[in-house]
Amino acid sequence: MIMNLLPLIPLQPEGRPLVIAGPCSAESPMQMLETARGLAGRGTDVFRAGIWKPRTRPGGFEGMGEKALAWLAAVKDETGLLTATEVGNARHAELAMKAGVDILWIGARTSASPFAVQEIAEVLAGEDVPVLVKNPVCADLQLWIGAIERLYLRGLRRLGAIHRGFKTFGDTTYRNTPHWEIAAALRAELPSLPIICDPSHIGGKRSLVAPLSQQAMSMGYDGLIIESHCNPDAALSDAAQQITPTTLTALLDQLRQGRSHVAPTCPHQSSWRG
Ligand code: PEP
Ligand code: MN
Repeated sequence: MIMNLLPLIPLQPEGRPLVIAGPCSAESPMQMLETARGLAGRGTDVFRAGIWKPRTRPGGFEGMGEKALAWLAAVKDETGLLTATEVGNARHAELAMKAGVDILWIGARTSASPFAVQEIAEVLAGEDVPVLVKNPVCADLQLWIGAIERLYLRGLRRLGAIHRGFKTFGDTTYRNTPHWEIAAALRAELPSLPIICDPSHIGGKRSLVAPLSQQAMSMGYDGLIIESHCNPDAALSDAAQQITPTTLTALLDQLRQGRSHVAPTCPHQSSWRG
């Protein structure tokens, strides 16, 4: 399918990678604001926070739910950062739209479910909201493309993909094994679609966030989505992979410096200039 897409966000600087950062989960108004204050004005474009958390097994922290939408709005009010959250069903999509969330993403467990994606697409039909589609948990390129097509066919034009790795039984290095070749095949199939890398969910641990980010940038990814928490050790979800805003800022500075020495090698190579 040939897709005519619009820029992910209306004022996105041409060619500069988009940086989305924030906690895995919204936990409290203070945790949100403290994290956002540490990120604002230091290279982050969009503040992320999960409000409904799709846990693989019941009993884990399942998110603060609807009331946390107001906390996202407060972050935007105070810092001016755009906001993003995950929607896993039609009801989430309705509530997030009503609350004015700027960017939605569809998680890896949801993008593996055509019924759920279709229901979300029906709610969002004709809206101008950007939607990012994470790769499904299984290494199925067609399922990933199918989820993106369902949104496109309902009139959404600000679309992007997120490579967050794929579940592999027994992999002890990564939480979710990266398949750079699957993302490259997606690029070949849908050349105008921005692809963002999620080093946090690929790596699953803090030490892997910087090298994976560097790798994604050198491969010409259009952006990064990185989990950042004001007190990572105390995080209610994904504590092992979250980094402080200070660490994230240093990482972005390093990437920017590294990038100035790298000559563009492919048409999609983005740069930190501008
Ligand atoms: C998340 O971004 O916090 C999340 C739940 O991601 P994924 O769908 O990639 O597991
Ligand atoms: Mn997470």
